[in-house]
Amino acid sequence: MRRDLFDEEHLLFRETVREFLTREVVPHHAQWEKDGIVPREVWKKAGELGMFGFSVPEEFGGAGITDFRYNAVVLEEITRIGATGLGFSLHNDVMAPYFVDLTNEEQKQRWLPGFASGELITAIAMTEPGAGSDLQGIRTTALREGDHYVVNGQKTFITNGINSDLVVVVAKTDPSAGARGTTLLVVERGMAGFSRGRNLEKIGMHAQDTAELFFENVHVPVANRLGDEDGQGFVQLMHNLPQERLSIAVGAVAAAESVLETTIEYCKSRKAFGKSIGQFQNTRFLLAELATEVEIARHYVDKCIVALNAGELTAVDAAKAKWWTTELQTKLIDRCLQLHGGYGYMLEYPVAKAWLDSRVQTIYGGTTEIMKEIIGRSFGF
Ligand SMILES: Cc1cc2nc3c(=O)[nH]c(=O)nc-3n(C[C@H](O)[C@H](O)[C@H](O)COP(=O)(O)OP(=O)(O)OC[C@H]3O[C@@H](n4cnc5c(N)ncnc54)[C@H](O)[C@@H]3O)c2cc1C
Repeated sequence: MRRDLFDEEHLLFRETVREFLTREVVPHHAQWEKDGIVPREVWKKAGELGMFGFSVPEEFGGAGITDFRYNAVVLEEITRIGATGLGFSLHNDVMAPYFVDLTNEEQKQRWLPGFASGELITAIAMTEPGAGSDLQGIRTTALREGDHYVVNGQKTFITNGINSDLVVVVAKTDPSAGARGTTLLVVERGMAGFSRGRNLEKIGMHAQDTAELFFENVHVPVANRLGDEDGQGFVQLMHNLPQERLSIAVGAVAAAESVLETTIEYCKSRKAFGKSIGQFQNTRFLLAELATEVEIARHYVDKCIVALNAGELTAVDAAKAKWWTTELQTKLIDRCLQLHGGYGYMLEYPVAKAWLDSRVQTIYGGTTEIMKEIIGRSFGF
């Protein structure tokens, strides 16, 4: 079915992004996988092209457009080439609402121009060694002392953890107040007591810097708090998580489409028992099932993008999109790997890398089980 999500300007933008990625990313990504990180220069080059902060007002160097279709274009193109090291969607899709919508005028002036230019790379630090799904169980504290908070604690699995300049840290300003005692603070590169731990070794996404962060008596000015008062952090997170989950779903469908496409081509060319493997009924039925599921997923996700743009995407809508598309993605890639036979196990084949890179999709941004909890709770049990 025809995909009618995009207008002419999105399609033109897609050409620009594709050309940029072909030139600046494709030739280097394998090396970045070995390095475990992407260089900051590629962020700056992408920023010059206008790939960041679409919703950043023009006066601060952005495009001043609140239209998630531009975010989707960037993520789809990055996914198409398997450039999983670029933490652009975390910056664009996840972090932009924190920096654009929750900041005051003074903070906007300090941070938004760098956000849009790619000179200030962002991250969000929710997860701790002892608390992931159960966010209320975090132990990082930010205790007020005059015009500062003193932050102590540890975070882990933080995307852009090494490259980031601005980290939105979820901390307890009132440890006795539960969710209502949680506040978001922007910790900046170079603040005394803020250090990075290991760039963690993962099973996939090797070019993505996923790191531990440590906070030891870090003095964070009150001027770096997101929101007017303490205790708003949980509400702010809950408000922004649906967009994060939709972003993951957009990536899931794009990855699934891409792997399906290359697998169909492979099944045309690979011969066994005197015919192409695509001529076996098992192969055709399997590909037919997967193609059907991906197309249905695509239309649901596109509808979610329209709903997000209209301010109507609910937490339940986004949870459905996130768990179903990521489970589909991992299943599809696994089946497609099987159709590649032994070659599917070889890293030189894109399906092998896609298999490794995709495994995390059902885990981060809220696990499949937590997504089902969100949906299940909506029935009023
Ligand atoms: C590559 C990568 C990047 C990440 N990036 C970031 C980031 O940028 N910022 C950040 O803050 N975090 C990040 N994370 C962390 C991620 O969001 C968490 O790993 C995830 O939310 C799960 O938390 P956990 O690992 O503590 O697992 P746990 O919460 O310990 O869960 C373990 C298992 O128990 C299940 N479970 C837990 N609670 C329930 C329940 N109520 N009902 C049923 N089952 C349940 C889970 O579904 C899971 O299967 C990242 C993780 C990875 C791997």
